[in-house]
Amino acid sequence: MDSDPSICSEEPKLKRSFGQMVFVNRSVTLENIQCFGFDMDYTMAMYKSPDYESMGFELIRDRMVSVGYPHELLRYTYDPSFPTRGLVIDTKFGNLLKVDSNGNVLVCSHGFHILKGEDVHKYYPNKFIQRDDTDRFYILNTLYNLSETYFYSCLVDFFTRCTRYTNLLKGFQHGDLFMSYRSMFQDARDTVDFIHDSGILKDRTIKNLDRYVIKEPNLPVLLTRIKVVAKVFLATNSDYSYTEAIMKYLLENKSGSPKKPWRSFFDLIVVDTKKPLFFAEGTVLRQVDTNTGKLRIGTYTGDLQHGTVYSGGSSDVICDLLDVRGKNILYVGDHIFGDILKSKKRQGWRTFLVVPELTKELQVWDKKKNLFEELKRLDIFLAELYKHLDSDSQEVPDIRAIQTRMKVLTYRMDMSYGQMGSLLRSGARQTLFASQLMRYADLYSSTCINLLHYPFNYLFMAPPVLMPHESVAQHAADFAASELARTNKTVQTSRN
Ligand SMILES: [Mg+2]
Repeated sequence: MDSDPSICSEEPKLKRSFGQMVFVNRSVTLENIQCFGFDMDYTMAMYKSPDYESMGFELIRDRMVSVGYPHELLRYTYDPSFPTRGLVIDTKFGNLLKVDSNGNVLVCSHGFHILKGEDVHKYYPNKFIQRDDTDRFYILNTLYNLSETYFYSCLVDFFTRCTRYTNLLKGFQHGDLFMSYRSMFQDARDTVDFIHDSGILKDRTIKNLDRYVIKEPNLPVLLTRIKVVAKVFLATNSDYSYTEAIMKYLLENKSGSPKKPWRSFFDLIVVDTKKPLFFAEGTVLRQVDTNTGKLRIGTYTGDLQHGTVYSGGSSDVICDLLDVRGKNILYVGDHIFGDILKSKKRQGWRTFLVVPELTKELQVWDKKKNLFEELKRLDIFLAELYKHLDSDSQEVPDIRAIQTRMKVLTYRMDMSYGQMGSLLRSGARQTLFASQLMRYADLYSSTCINLLHYPFNYLFMAPPVLMPHESVAQHAADFAASELARTNKTVQTSRN
C-alpha cells in the first residue's frame, strides 16, 4: 500500500502496546467506513505541551495587564500540573469545579486553594451545580482552554492574596471600585477571543512551528493508507492560510522526493467550518482561491473537484459532495462538544475522540490502580456490613473510619494526576468529561495515529457492560459457583 520503511518493511506486524491502542465504547466495523474525516487542531496537528499552553498563557496575561490589570500578574508563569480539561468556572463565586455528569461537585478550587468538603458546602449547599445555567457556568472543554483555565486561577489567587483588595463573596472591593468574579471572567474570555481572532496566537505558532507543533512522521503514512480504502476529508475551524501553513509542515517533507502537495492527501478540504454550527444548519459554502487565500463570491454549487478548498458549509454538504451517508463516516476530533457530541447527536456519524491526556492517564492508572482496588474493596466491605441488616435492624455500623479512608484514597489518586486530579475520574466517580466520552465517542485514543495499528477491515468490539442489577446477579452466580467448587473440593479431600 505504501513504501514507508519505518512502518512496513522492517516490522510488518506492529505490536499494539497499551499506549497504541484504540479503545471502544460502541462497536465499529472499520470495513463499513467509507469516509474518514479529520479535525486539524489538536487532532492531526498536536501542539507541544506545555510550551504551547505557556505561550497562550503569556499572551493572555500580557494583554490583560496592558488593558489595566495589575502588573504583579506578570509574575505568574504557566504551571502544567494545575489545570485539567473539562473543568467548569463558576463566574459567580470565582471557583473552578470538577463535576460529574449530573453536576455533583467532585473537586472545587478557589484560586489555587482546593476547598475542603465543608467549605464546598458553603458555596454549594447540595455540592451540586445546575450546569445547564450556561450564563453562570462555563465549561472549559478544549485543550486550548488550558491556558485560560490557569490564568483565571492566577487572577483569583492574586486578588485573594493582595492586601489592597477586600475579599467579598462575589468579588473584590478596592476603594469605591468593585471587581466581580464575573467581570474578571468576562475580561479573560474576551482576551482569549482576541488572541485567537486577531491572529496573534497563529502568527506566533507559524513563526515557531518546530517549537510548538509536533511533526508526526506517521501522519502522511496514515492518510496515504486510508486513501487507498476510503475517502478522506479535513474539516477545520481554522482559516485557510493557517491550515495551509500547518498542513504543509506536517505533510510535505522538505527532503523527501517526489514532493507530494499536502492537499493531495484529501478528497475534500473545508476550512472556517464554524463547528458546532457546521453539524447543524452550517454557513454558506464558498470556494477558496488557494493562490490568494481569499474567498470567492457566491455559494458554490458545482461538483467536487479534487484538491479544491472550501470555506464554511455544513456536514450535509460534505455528505453530498462526497456521496456518503453519515453512518459510513468516521469523524476524528479532539473537541468533545464541537467535534464529537454534535456530529453524533445531530448527524449520527461514527466518532473517534482524540484524548492526548490518555497517555499520562494510562501511566498513572497503571502505577496507582492499587489505590482504586483498595477503594473497591472498601466498597465491598461496606456492603458486607449492611448485608444482614434491614429496616427492622437496630444496629448502626460505625463506618466513619472507612469513609475517612475512602476520602484519603480518593485524594491520593487525584494528586497522582495533578492538582485538579484526573481528566476522567475522582476516586470511584467519573467526571462529566468521562461520561460524555463514553456516551458520544464510539472510539477513543491518545492520538489518531493509533489507527495505524489496526487493519482497515478491523471490527472494534465494545466490551459488554453490565448494569448494576446484572452485575450483582453475576456476582451472586460467581459466588455460588465458587462455594460449590469449594464444597466439592472439601468432599473430595475428605474422601481421599
Ligand atoms: Mg481541534
